[in-house]
Amino acid sequence: MKTLPLFIDGQFVASQSQQFIDVTNPADNSVIAKVPCATQGEMQAAVASAKAAFLIWKDVPVSERARVMLRYQHLLKAHQNEIAETLSLETGKTFDDAKGDVWRGIEVVEHAANIASLMMGETVENVARSIDCYSLTQPLGVCAGITPFNFPAMIPLWMFPLAIACGNTFILKPSEQDPLTPTRLVELFVEAGAPKGVLQVVHGGKEQVDFLLQHPEVKALSFVGSVPVGQYIYQQGTQHLKRVQAFAGAKNHMVVMPDANKDQVINNIVGASVGAAGQRCMAISVVVLVGESQAWVDDIKAALAKVRPGLWNDKDAAFGPLISPKAKARVQALIAAGKEEGANCLLDGSDFSVEGYENGNWLGPTLFSEVTPEMRIYREEIFGPVLCLVNADSLASAIALVNANPYGNGTSIFTASGAAARKYQHEISVGQVGINVPIPVPLPFFSFTGWKGSFYGDQHAYGKQAVRFYTETKTVTARWFEGDIPAGPNMTIHLD
Ligand code: NAD
Repeated sequence: MKTLPLFIDGQFVASQSQQFIDVTNPADNSVIAKVPCATQGEMQAAVASAKAAFLIWKDVPVSERARVMLRYQHLLKAHQNEIAETLSLETGKTFDDAKGDVWRGIEVVEHAANIASLMMGETVENVARSIDCYSLTQPLGVCAGITPFNFPAMIPLWMFPLAIACGNTFILKPSEQDPLTPTRLVELFVEAGAPKGVLQVVHGGKEQVDFLLQHPEVKALSFVGSVPVGQYIYQQGTQHLKRVQAFAGAKNHMVVMPDANKDQVINNIVGASVGAAGQRCMAISVVVLVGESQAWVDDIKAALAKVRPGLWNDKDAAFGPLISPKAKARVQALIAAGKEEGANCLLDGSDFSVEGYENGNWLGPTLFSEVTPEMRIYREEIFGPVLCLVNADSLASAIALVNANPYGNGTSIFTASGAAARKYQHEISVGQVGINVPIPVPLPFFSFTGWKGSFYGDQHAYGKQAVRFYTETKTVTARWFEGDIPAGPNMTIHLD
């Protein structure tokens, strides 16, 4: 049985903790590893090492920092299948899905290798006679990241490569439910030549997160996870005067116009709703059928009925199990609530199981029609392979419905009309919009821009916004005298 180490001051070390959490294989709930809850002393040591390393790392030339990222990208690519296998084992994701999780992370590392251009400041010559003004972009110090279970490669890679490329040092607290993948990412980062102390890994839960939230040396904190924890982290972090970005839950709507291509719509609905067992923050969990597209319900049901979960290496499986028995029980309770509240349950996956793996956290595809906004299955993030169909009589009423929803991570519209798509993109209060694209996750040269209840903070993940999040701007106003220095102080203020 593997017990995961901490990574402190450049060493993988066995924790002295008396408290361990089981890491399980979601396909059968067998225990595959144990993860320690770092002690206060170990947390202190991680912060002290990150603080000391910052004093050296911040002065390492930007092109050398970029080169670490180039080597890291190369190693991640060379090991992507092996990382994806580990990821499948601890999350239950299908192999293809696990590879996607790793690949989206590699793309952020590629982006971090461009750090010199991303950190460029601005210059204006002659802001006054013989005076130039320019801005510098400088790192903050020790930054920290707290990551969720559902993307154990991509989300840690959203955070530490860019933070470190900016010249910061970083403390990662990965999800306790799947820490094997982040540990492998860190081993490869060391192999890529990351100097001692620039990255630390501590494990645990609330107690370790609270330590980071309260520690004055931690200057910025990135969080991705559920809504209540995101709100708590944003409130606590800002109260302790830190810079915080907290990415939280979602309820993503796909609006289907009657002029859309039916086959394309249905094909996209299946992958976007139940793919990864619906455990994606950008999963489509609500489809809004506008006008005549309401006649497509039976076709949607038939397409979803054809897919099934299975083991990570089962090529015919559309998705894997849920992460834990607790997550499964929560989704089952929401399915039961949907039935009690009067939604029409067209497919019920609550009792699904896979032969030989009856102890796993399986759920089959589940479909509700006639869902209304008061129902719990509409109001709450389900985070399971459950799709809700809602009817709307016009594009305007579909937009009003989506805009009234408290979340704003992602949305999409399927239509053949440029005018309808333009209206949707302009009027919708959601931060990431797909036009005939079901899951519009931006590539790393943009930023991941969730809105409303899906995000607390202002600067988002990756792209230029992440560089702003992980740096301070210093503005310099400079004058160089030539020849004789004028006599006496200049007391004049020019107002016009
Ligand atoms: P979670 O909130 O349970 O856990 C996330 C992290 O917070 C973990 O590292 C965990 O150890 C820590 N944590 C848990 N409880 C805590 C507490 N009380 N105090 C301090 N820290 C605590 O989330 P999860 O179940 O791992 O992930 C799924 C959630 O993440 C979903 O709601 C999903 O929508 C969201 N998510 C959002 C995005 C986004 O970009 N908006 C991306 C991925 C996942």
